[in-house]
Amino acid sequence: MAETAPGLLPAQQATLNAIRTPAEHRPTYPAGFAGELRNDAEAALTEFVDAARGIDGRGLWVSKRDLAGVFGCEARHLADAGTPFAWTVPTARGTVLHKAVELSTHRRFEPEDAVDAALERLVADDDNLGSFLAQASDGERADLTANCVALFARFGETFPPMQRAWRPAAEVRARARLCGGAFVLNGKYDLTLGSPAPLGGPEGLQRAGKVIIDLKTGSRTPTDPEDLRFYALVETLSVGVPPLGIGSFYVAEGRIEHEAVTAEVLDSALRRTVDGIGRLITLRTGRREPQRVPGPPCRWCPISADCEPGQAWLSDPDD
Ligand code: SF4
Repeated sequence: MAETAPGLLPAQQATLNAIRTPAEHRPTYPAGFAGELRNDAEAALTEFVDAARGIDGRGLWVSKRDLAGVFGCEARHLADAGTPFAWTVPTARGTVLHKAVELSTHRRFEPEDAVDAALERLVADDDNLGSFLAQASDGERADLTANCVALFARFGETFPPMQRAWRPAAEVRARARLCGGAFVLNGKYDLTLGSPAPLGGPEGLQRAGKVIIDLKTGSRTPTDPEDLRFYALVETLSVGVPPLGIGSFYVAEGRIEHEAVTAEVLDSALRRTVDGIGRLITLRTGRREPQRVPGPPCRWCPISADCEPGQAWLSDPDD
């Protein structure tokens, strides 16, 4: 049972209860744990090394999105990869909120100020999103601001206020290179709280302490838990200590789905990642036709007009 923090709203307290684990109940791992996991991963990936280097000389970069793509509709995954990404108010919403949360991890902001500051920072970035925001009409900008202020206010009412002692960090890039760089597992965590602690002793024990959180501004998707398990794997392989927990925080619901990280969770993430890499390679090298898996994503698929199973699903999604 987590401690009761004074002055928290009920939803904030529920989130804190879900993610907080007292130090004495946190798992510890021997110093060689991550090295063994790396050995297992590299042994399982050996058969794909040449093909991976053949696809891209800098190694095959693998993200949670790639894995979700090959475990969902592969035809859509390939179509998305070949379609230039176009920012819109709905697609920009999540990134603006993440930025606002990032800025607020070290300074208190009113929602409107946090969103204004986030927009200002993002416009200053010389990239596609910065250009979209700079060129957005007054109406688009007002729509985006209103959406993000509402989401940020919701986040503030349902997520406990950041404490310095939690070492909050936002938009954290993480990479794990495997097999001499033939594979790069690539992640960007929306938010992390806490950090691992070395305990020492003959086994060089490390105590887990970090919680990795994905902030979700949209609906739940079936791959949300697997996305975070992939992040737990990336974290373990890069930092050398597994995270304490992983959680998707659904902003509209004000609720977190938290999972404690265990050796079994990491083993399952490793097996799925190796399986997904094998699928990615056979797909990208044209060794097989992409599978078509109709479902809700057909609604936003760039090739739905020419996809027979997709059209059949769209004409009767309840069938
Ligand atoms: S319309 Fe549906 S089934 Fe067809 S490619 Fe797109 S997501 Fe896949």
